[in-house]
Amino acid sequence: MTDADRPAGHEPQSADFVITGTVVTVDPDRRVYADGAVAVRGSQIAAVGPRAEIEAAYEPRRRLGGPRDLVIPGLIDTHNHMAQALVRSLALEDLPNITRVYIPAEDVLGDDGIRTSARVTMTNLLRAGVTTTTDTTCTPEHEEAVGETALETGIRCALAVGDRDRTSRLASNYEQIEGRSAYRDDPGVRADNIAHLEDFLTRWSAQGRGMVRPYIHAASVPSISDQMFLAAQDMAERHDTAVMTHINRDREEIELCVSLFGRRPFEHLSHIGALGPRFLAIHAMLTTAREIRLLAEAGAKLTHAPVVCTDIVSAVTDIVGMRAAGVTVGLGCDTVINDILAVMRIAFFMQAQAAGIPMYDPIGFTTEDAFDMATIDGARALLWDGAIGSLEVGKAADITVIDGENPRLSPRHNPVGSIVRYATGTDVRSVLVDGRLVVDDGRVLTVDEESLLDEADEVASRVRADLVGRRYWPINQRYKVID
Ligand SMILES: [Zn+2]
Repeated sequence: MTDADRPAGHEPQSADFVITGTVVTVDPDRRVYADGAVAVRGSQIAAVGPRAEIEAAYEPRRRLGGPRDLVIPGLIDTHNHMAQALVRSLALEDLPNITRVYIPAEDVLGDDGIRTSARVTMTNLLRAGVTTTTDTTCTPEHEEAVGETALETGIRCALAVGDRDRTSRLASNYEQIEGRSAYRDDPGVRADNIAHLEDFLTRWSAQGRGMVRPYIHAASVPSISDQMFLAAQDMAERHDTAVMTHINRDREEIELCVSLFGRRPFEHLSHIGALGPRFLAIHAMLTTAREIRLLAEAGAKLTHAPVVCTDIVSAVTDIVGMRAAGVTVGLGCDTVINDILAVMRIAFFMQAQAAGIPMYDPIGFTTEDAFDMATIDGARALLWDGAIGSLEVGKAADITVIDGENPRLSPRHNPVGSIVRYATGTDVRSVLVDGRLVVDDGRVLTVDEESLLDEADEVASRVRADLVGRRYWPINQRYKVID
């Protein structure tokens, strides 16, 4: 630009970055600037709009993007498990993989192992354009490791912690002729859990520096007492955070809940007063229309991890019904595929297949719905939409740039539809989190990726050696790996 083009008396302001391309803002009007730009100063977005205006107003230290690139809000992963990355490929076809693979693996990781596992997951996510992730396995032994690794890699993280204070036992179908399912609560564990959470929520609100935000993990209805659910709601209110619960995942869980309380899981939580706007349900595949109403009336949120619907052999969550009832739904990678662009596509095809695509019916599931779920609705689900989820002035500069010099994404009549249907994590070129350039030209700047892979192999073989003895199903069936 020459001085002659500039309106007289308006010197350009300095900026750290100006990022150009097709800008998908996800603002309340869902504006998309075909030839747009975003200016970043410090940790915030200073301006968004047509490229000519932004370039006239700002002189950046660095320019990113290009005429064919797509500039979108940093993507938001509302459900993941940092402890599971190194064993996820062992969990294929070994069911039930939560109890046979994931839980035992967490126990053998140790502090170094969890740091490696978190580093691998976070690197994987950042490279794929995810700027906010969530850890929902985190035990008190792992919380420092996961929180510190997030600060080190530069990804934003919702860090959820909590202990289980209820043991439940499901009587088998035959036992139920005579006996009953049963549960036992442990008030000592509950008191310790509450004391720990009060400390954790206070401590990480400060040391997370706005990048790591503390949440409560109330694992599941069979493993958490009614009193703990209520205490969690109260703490969430006081510490401005949310409670995350895995719910309505499989037949055993529903049957246990019905045999203990005569109510399904959401009905039980509603009955004891534990559903509210600070409740984030995880999964909810086996949810009835009545339960969807209860969620909507309470203002509770949902995170949907579509891959897990098949990975644990359950049903397809009724996202169309949830959204139609007014439930806010975010998307989650849940470890299995740490590429939320792929997860958006899976969610879109899965819902479209399950519900059909009702043409011109506002209640359906479109690529735009999938995109909202990975951006602004994910931010709302985590109660973080004041800062992230869209490209708007004053919001944190969490920005993903997708390489548009790419035959897969050309031509592009519908930018959002093209991203959801065709883009993959490897198309991501640059990522800013909180104004910091974390991915440049497809490489994560905060991690030495080569030594990370060696480190990951070492921890993975230790964990694998511990797990292989427990398997009743061979890792490879017809395909033989020759070492
Ligand atoms: Zn999970």
